[in-house]
Amino acid sequence: MFLTISTTGIPERPATDLGFLLHKHPGKAQAFSTSHGTAHVFYPEATAERCTAALLLEVDPVALVRRGQGKGRGAAPDATLAQYVNDRPYAASSLLAVALSGVFRTALKGQCAARPELPGQSRPLRIEIPALPARGGADLVRRLFGPLGWDSVETEPVVLDERFPEWGDSRYVRLVLEGELKLDDALRQLYVLLPVLDDAKHYWIAPDEVDKLLRAGDGWLAAHPEHGLITARYLARRKRLTQDAMERLELARLAQVDGSEAEELDNAVGETPGESPGEISDAPERSVPLVVRRREAILAALREAGAQRVLDLGCGEGQLVQALLKDPAYTEIVGVDVSVRALTTAARRLRLERMGERQSSRVRLFQGSLAYTDKRLAGYDAAVLSEVIEHLDLPRLPALEYAVFAAARPRTVLVTTPNVEYNVRWESLPAGHVRHRDHRFEWTREEFRAWADKVAGRHGYTVAYEPVGDDDPEVGPPTQMAVFTVRTESPKEGEAA
Ligand code: SAH
Repeated sequence: MFLTISTTGIPERPATDLGFLLHKHPGKAQAFSTSHGTAHVFYPEATAERCTAALLLEVDPVALVRRGQGKGRGAAPDATLAQYVNDRPYAASSLLAVALSGVFRTALKGQCAARPELPGQSRPLRIEIPALPARGGADLVRRLFGPLGWDSVETEPVVLDERFPEWGDSRYVRLVLEGELKLDDALRQLYVLLPVLDDAKHYWIAPDEVDKLLRAGDGWLAAHPEHGLITARYLARRKRLTQDAMERLELARLAQVDGSEAEELDNAVGETPGESPGEISDAPERSVPLVVRRREAILAALREAGAQRVLDLGCGEGQLVQALLKDPAYTEIVGVDVSVRALTTAARRLRLERMGERQSSRVRLFQGSLAYTDKRLAGYDAAVLSEVIEHLDLPRLPALEYAVFAAARPRTVLVTTPNVEYNVRWESLPAGHVRHRDHRFEWTREEFRAWADKVAGRHGYTVAYEPVGDDDPEVGPPTQMAVFTVRTESPKEGEAA
């Protein structure tokens, strides 16, 4: 089993930096004993212009059998010759991935104590694997590596025997990857995809394989078009583990989406109209992410209500609180959430620790559940429930209703929630799926109004509805917002109490 990693260099960034990145000196040949044999690391070439590191794993097939690990799925039964005479010593199977992670452990983590700046830099890489078992063929190899940032993914079938061309191709390919990548990203891809292509794990699949997969897949797996196949094969098609991994990947993907939306928001805030790229001014509506439009709609409604002291109920990671702080009209801003983790992130985002006294006297975050009445919430001008109600189980909703509309009783309450009718317009959302794994329900416009009308009636509020995002003529807007306003004690315009 053999693989080489090459890079080229320039005088300021010599190719031999590869030695630092891999934590293996280019001048030495080293051997490491691994659980499946001996791994050798050496450098066939090491100049400032070009440097190649080779990893050679000498597998001991007899030891594998003794350890009970010589059998792939569907392999011959025990005590047959196939256990001893097989491709294990030659092909870059999952065993090579195990060796890779053992020998280049620190490099895989993207750490380099001697030159801490190196791992963060991408550099020209060429990775060659002369015999890669590819169940699924060269086509699958390209589908797996294609979306991962390589300039070229070259696969060449390996013939079974050069002396007998009529025997045709083997199930191995020679793989050459070339592109500008960070070394740890490349290694983490190989660590996951070698066993995926091999599709026969030769060691025990423990529950922590899911953690290993997610760690190695961090930053690339969640958004990979083949993440389903990768996950299932990596986990040897264990149903429970695969499902667990898929759910966690979905959360990671959502977190990435949220993150990028937040960035766009920050950019949008700092941008002067004259400097905005053409694309944005051509299509001002479309280019603004929904999360931003939701926040703008909320801010506009709060301004309209003349609110000064505001509750953000289910404040999450504090984006709205942050926006409110920027406007001196808000004299007191309170973020409440049940999740300590979200509140910790919010505090960090707001730099609560380093805030001056005047700012910090305007803002407070505390933990609380909206399913319970809480004295601390009484007496505010307005409360915002932005994308929160759908996170409560329906039977808990009356408790939230009581806590907010009867007990806390702010003058204005803003509630936003997804409009499920709009889901057919999200191209990436499979039919019948909710937008977030934690959503307990998503309502149509009619369902939302039925609920909000009743709530308003029961607690003496009036309610108006506003679309947020493009209001589609057929299915309505992506987000729906209800603006509740408390009825004054003595209705002036002859309204029924
Ligand atoms: N308001 C934010 C976050 C929405 S996500 C925004 O618009 O982006 C929903 C939030 O509601 C999460 O942070 C979750 O922790 C919180 N949440 C869910 N159930 C809750 C409850 N019972 N009490 C308080 N917060 C709750």
